[in-house]
Amino acid sequence: MALDRYRYGNYVDRIVDESSTITEAVTNLRTLRLKVKSEAYPWLNAAAPEVNRVWNFANETSYKAAQPFTGPRRWLSAYDLDKLTAGSSRYFEKIGSDTIQRINAEYATRRRQFKKTKLRFRKSFGSNRTRGWIPFKPTQLKRKGNSLRFAGKSFRVFERERLDGVSWKCGWFKQDCVGDWFLCLPVAYSEVPSIAPGEEVGIDLGLKHTAATSDGEKLEAGRFYRNIEQKIAQAQRRGHKRQAKRLHRRAAQRRKDALHKFSRKLVDQYQKIIVGDVSSTKLVKTRMAKSVLDAGWGMLKTQLSYKASAAGRCVMVVSERNTSSTCSNCRALTGPKGLDMLTVRTWICGECGVTHDRDVNAAKNIRFAARSSPSVSGNESSPSTAPPSQASRLREARTSAVKAAA
Ligand SMILES: [Zn+2]
Repeated sequence: MALDRYRYGNYVDRIVDESSTITEAVTNLRTLRLKVKSEAYPWLNAAAPEVNRVWNFANETSYKAAQPFTGPRRWLSAYDLDKLTAGSSRYFEKIGSDTIQRINAEYATRRRQFKKTKLRFRKSFGSNRTRGWIPFKPTQLKRKGNSLRFAGKSFRVFERERLDGVSWKCGWFKQDCVGDWFLCLPVAYSEVPSIAPGEEVGIDLGLKHTAATSDGEKLEAGRFYRNIEQKIAQAQRRGHKRQAKRLHRRAAQRRKDALHKFSRKLVDQYQKIIVGDVSSTKLVKTRMAKSVLDAGWGMLKTQLSYKASAAGRCVMVVSERNTSSTCSNCRALTGPKGLDMLTVRTWICGECGVTHDRDVNAAKNIRFAARSSPSVSGNESSPSTAPPSQASRLREARTSAVKAAA
């Protein structure tokens, strides 16, 4: 217990401070993404190059100011760019001054964020063109009956009912890889952090199964791309570029959907989620690249971390070393080792004789590793998460309260 207190020292203090507010709703941002009906595409396609021109002007001007022939450097802010672009809206057919100011603000923010003297130019034409993007201020987009009104033009979107009772602070239109347009609106929603029924779970990320949990659950490796690879190849040979793009998008959507379902299940079920520090960028360079990218490890980790922090859970990253070759029962190094042994799916420990499933055993070891080694790089501590020791106490308190009420 002393060790526990030491390890979670800063956590415990913070939890004690916040113990009165732990059941209050936390406000998070979620981006609504609604597909725009295709009748508005010509307008949006015409507006996108105008946005690119403003962006490129901001980029060029900022670069010149940062690299002057004489005198000191200047880093232009959104305010400076607004002054420089004042009155330019009359030269544009589609976009107005509000959109221009939003572009300037976005440019200045991103340039500062990436610490660059200039960013990438937006290309309007050719096969290499940048996907369209049109930002706007909250007051520019208005509801009008069944449609939305923006810059003197009516838009209709699919799933309109999702906008009911929603207020937005900003927003943008965005084009996807196929060329379809989406309306994106970050909206606030509140979620009450809860205590999950399960204490902790280890997750082994692999190729055979995208992920296996220490409780024996598995997410089948998505062969989302591999399954339609042939269809994509056929379409490309026939020169059907648009169809090929659609197929790629379908694979991506299926992968994302499966990962969303899996990560939601984990976050609903467990208080503490422990993943290995496997780096997908390293494995992409080997001949297993396609399987690795198809597995979508990075996406699963991202989803877990933001869903966990919204629900008041904790995600931990531990070193993966020896997790598949250690016996989770007796801790002897009797399991399969090395790349050649990747095909071994089940094995029997030579010391204690327990039969192991390779991935589940590794997941159990990952869960165990979180207890012995506190952390490795890549860990993010979120202030609203209760450590598992605290969580179990809170859970007990809550169940006894329920019993007392009953
Ligand atoms: Zn053993």
